[in-house]
Amino acid sequence: MAQALNFKQELTACFGFPVAENPTQAMIEPAYRAMGLDWRYLTLEVRPENLAAAVHGARAFGFNGFNCTIPHKIAVIEHLDGLGESAQLMGAVNCVVQRDGKLIGENTDGKGFVSSLRKLTDPTGKRCVIFGAGGAARAISVEMALAGCAEIIIVNRSANRGLPLVDLLNRRVAASCSTSFSANFVSWTADYDIPTGTDIVINATSIGLYPGTDARLALNLATLLPAMIVADVIPNPPATNLIKDARAKGCPVIDGLGMLVAQGVIGIEYWTGQTPDAAVMRGALERIFDQ
Ligand code: NDP
Repeated sequence: MAQALNFKQELTACFGFPVAENPTQAMIEPAYRAMGLDWRYLTLEVRPENLAAAVHGARAFGFNGFNCTIPHKIAVIEHLDGLGESAQLMGAVNCVVQRDGKLIGENTDGKGFVSSLRKLTDPTGKRCVIFGAGGAARAISVEMALAGCAEIIIVNRSANRGLPLVDLLNRRVAASCSTSFSANFVSWTADYDIPTGTDIVINATSIGLYPGTDARLALNLATLLPAMIVADVIPNPPATNLIKDARAKGCPVIDGLGMLVAQGVIGIEYWTGQTPDAAVMRGALERIFDQ
């Protein structure tokens, strides 16, 4: 008997502005194909004034979910039906999931970071230094605290972003932690000395992002020791100066593709209920970034 034909594809997307250089589609669609799913991931340019209409459109077209990137991560919240725990704590959504007809906002950036870190170490009881206090630093620090790390030092240029983040971590996030946790702020005005005993050093600033690839973190490299794990959020290029310096010192490293792939894996799991092949996704990105 002839099989029923189906030309209707399941839809997911990324909403951003600008969005043309966002490589997420290039890793998600090969993952769908490798999973045998006839799903699409569309890169959609959504201007801020059109965000409400775009979310209505996602509902009307029956999207299974969508990612939000700059400048929609906070603004999208008022158009959704609910938030997951960490999105609520962070006040930012990067992944919307359709559950029983409702659009629920999640944040997979920090979860993706922790997932990529777990390949090297267990975050429990670890002491971390995080450079930056923007959206990426916020997502990473909240999930690292929830994952059981003992101490986070937020090193940031501006106090007006650093202090509220430390306050959020010490007041709201610490209350959800099962182990002892504390956060401190350091104003970043000169080359930073990494404290002895630090386990994990994370660049969550935009320093090193293309086209500013020559930029270096203001950091006393003599204080970076081989036992420290070094992570960078910059996906383009993955081999930032920090990653190169850390490799030269013998430190284990996690580049920005590690976090990008891991948060994409979590997004696909939320949307499809199935786990994609992370190696397919990383391979697709490595071909783009010529690694
Ligand atoms: P934000 O604009 O929210 O924050 C930027 C941060 O970088 C701030 O802390 C800012 O400090 C700091 N910063 C920028 N330039 C300098 C500088 N010259 N010197 C010192 N500090 C500086 O950006 P996001 O947090 O959203 O994104 C940060 C980076 O993370 C981006 O490059 C993005 O591509 C990357 N990212 C990667 C992901 C991945 O999956 N790999 C996921 C999400 C983001 P100040 O507060 O003083 O301005």
